[in-house]
Amino acid sequence: MTKDVKCTECGDRMISTREDRPYSKLPGVLLLGVEVLRCPKCGESEVVIPKPNQLGDLLARHLIEKRDRLVGPEIRFLRTHLGLPGAELARRMGVSPETISRWENGKDTMGPVADRLLRLLVAGDMPREALAKIGDDPRPLSLAVRASRAGWKEAA
Ligand SMILES: [Zn+2]
Repeated sequence: MTKDVKCTECGDRMISTREDRPYSKLPGVLLLGVEVLRCPKCGESEVVIPKPNQLGDLLARHLIEKRDRLVGPEIRFLRTHLGLPGAELARRMGVSPETISRWENGKDTMGPVADRLLRLLVAGDMPREALAKIGDDPRPLSLAVRASRAGWKEAA
């Protein structure tokens, strides 16, 4: 439990609760029972995410195994997970930085070949048969996860 955190907006003491909150980086991902700090005075709230790297690994694994095509925020999430700026991912995928940006903003849909290449860049050792099972429609990963002492896990 985080103690004595002051509101960045008004300086009042934040109150800690446990809530289910959508994960801001990925549509369709729900964080179950996460600590939320809320300012009683101005209503400012902040989600506390323990072990963010382990959560990132878990979600990246689900994204590369997902049967639907990737959506914009998932493409951005995987690029960030690789630790690459847009220009560097563009160089590795053989496209322009503007193309990466349009995919991430949902202005263009990533094609089936680029979708598979991005997954391979993230996975390295992804089973090749899995590539044949990816469908044609972009649809966000739908997943609920919960943090325990051992780290983040998929909720049953
Ligand atoms: Zn406040």
